[in-house]
Amino acid sequence: MTESFERRMKGLPVSPGIAIGCLRVEARGCPAPVTRSILPTETESEWARFESALARTEEELYALKERVAHLSGATEAAIFDAHLLFLRDRTILKRLRKEFDARMQNIDAVYYAVVQNFMEVMRHVDDPYLRSRVADIGDVLQRVLKNMLPSQAVGDLQSPCGCQPHILAAYDLTPSDTADLDPRMVLGFVTETGSAISHTAILARSLGIPAVVGVPRLVIDSRVGCKAILDGFSGVLILNPTAETEDYYRALQAEKDKAYKAFTDMRDLPAETLDGRRIRLAANVEFAHEYGAIQRSGAEGVGLYRTEFFLLGGGSLPDEETQYEHYRNLVESCAPHEVIFRTLDSGGDKLPFEVLEEKEENPFLGWRGIRVSLSRPEVFKEQLRAILRASAHGKVGVMFPMVSGITEVKQVHELLEECRNELRERGQAYDEHMRVGIMIEVPSAAMMSDVLARHVDFFSIGTNDLTQYTIAVDRVNFRVASMFRSTHPGVIRMIKQTISAGIPTAICGEMGGDINLVPLLVGLGATELSVGTHLLPLIRYAIRHLSYEECRAMTEQALQAEDSYTIRNLSADLARQSYPALFE
Ligand code: PEP
Ligand code: MG
Repeated sequence: MTESFERRMKGLPVSPGIAIGCLRVEARGCPAPVTRSILPTETESEWARFESALARTEEELYALKERVAHLSGATEAAIFDAHLLFLRDRTILKRLRKEFDARMQNIDAVYYAVVQNFMEVMRHVDDPYLRSRVADIGDVLQRVLKNMLPSQAVGDLQSPCGCQPHILAAYDLTPSDTADLDPRMVLGFVTETGSAISHTAILARSLGIPAVVGVPRLVIDSRVGCKAILDGFSGVLILNPTAETEDYYRALQAEKDKAYKAFTDMRDLPAETLDGRRIRLAANVEFAHEYGAIQRSGAEGVGLYRTEFFLLGGGSLPDEETQYEHYRNLVESCAPHEVIFRTLDSGGDKLPFEVLEEKEENPFLGWRGIRVSLSRPEVFKEQLRAILRASAHGKVGVMFPMVSGITEVKQVHELLEECRNELRERGQAYDEHMRVGIMIEVPSAAMMSDVLARHVDFFSIGTNDLTQYTIAVDRVNFRVASMFRSTHPGVIRMIKQTISAGIPTAICGEMGGDINLVPLLVGLGATELSVGTHLLPLIRYAIRHLSYEECRAMTEQALQAEDSYTIRNLSADLARQSYPALFE
């Protein structure tokens, strides 16, 4: 029976806005099924459940293959042949039957265990091609698991809203899932896992679409194709809204759109406090489809261009020439403003640079950020040369992620110098004065900022990682999401210390886009804020309604505070007092 009464599910709001549309549920990142014992009388129906999930998955894969062949050609579609082969692999099926008969457990749990086991073996084979297929097997596993869920929970990929704009509900979305999403089709996201600082949330904010994360039992309790409302202000997903609820949200949506337009209309006014403190307000971008929004938002260029999706999102790494063309386009379109390119930041919560032979126990403390680039100097130099060449066409800055100390800065300078020499030899132009900076997102770099300041032109504080590493709270683990507090006194003191080093310092983490915290960041002395394009008009409005002197006085008090709540409240109080319109 189809459920038709209104139902509300609560989560954590991570990107503001209202979306109204049809709900599409995806089982990507499905958790491991719960294991339960079964009775001998259940074995037949359990196996039948598995058989029908296989048949359904097969149909889906054929349909997908056809669609991809039509859209992108036979080569791309061939990937689904491998999926289909794995689905009916006789060794796996034989093994499954044997385990199922021996264990007497629910079939989805046994299938999960057998396939996981196989994936573990594949992760250790020598052939890198086979190793890289592990992700495809994981994909097939997810599909079969999804098709074993009760049919009212999850529909198929041809669900009624499959090809029209919809609200996407998923257990989890990886960085590559988010990179794959078509922004014209996805009205909003809602996930079971995630935190405000996860890439899914960052992406939602940069696209300007509402998002809610951390909704318990989302996938199992949602109904595919039903009408839904996603409230990114209060973090609520409403299934089957009544006409009254829908009217209320349509009115709210219209009101918010009107207010937002009013803020956007101020885009040509400078981001300057009432008493004349000028802040550079730049944009954070990572996808080509965001470029149009840079001008529309009135951003003074780009303060953080996350290059990893461009570099790793496709099948192979773009060569120097392709990178150069891509960077140059962005630089020319932002002139006369500066574009700051952050070099490849892979690993941890981001896309992996390559499939590793051994799984890292602590990927956030492992092979990521600048460490990857420095251990692959030839690949790194291609990116550096491409950025240098783009600097001949406009104002460019380059910065490096996850720097922990001076050794990495010196290595980077050496490689940059080599690249300049190579370009000179080739007779290719670049800007001798291109600014070179580093991200401050590792506590040791913040502590050493006075020394590092002698070696670079600017700092950009990545508050997402700086918070994660300073207070030891995983930025993507929803179990500790409520403990992720960028206003922790330990973090605020590090920001203060970094800014006190005396070189231009930007804030490019998510903290900069929080209207409650603008007074604190201005008071701490940040000279630049770089935020998602959609938030930019609001932050400009906020800065223009602040007094720098008041911000400084409040910050003096905040620096004496003992806990994150007091600091947040001090800043939020001044924010509400200075620009109440943003809180209505
Ligand atoms: C940060 O860590 O704050 C940051 C801006 O970088 P990213 O979110 O891409 O890690
Ligand atoms: Mg970071």
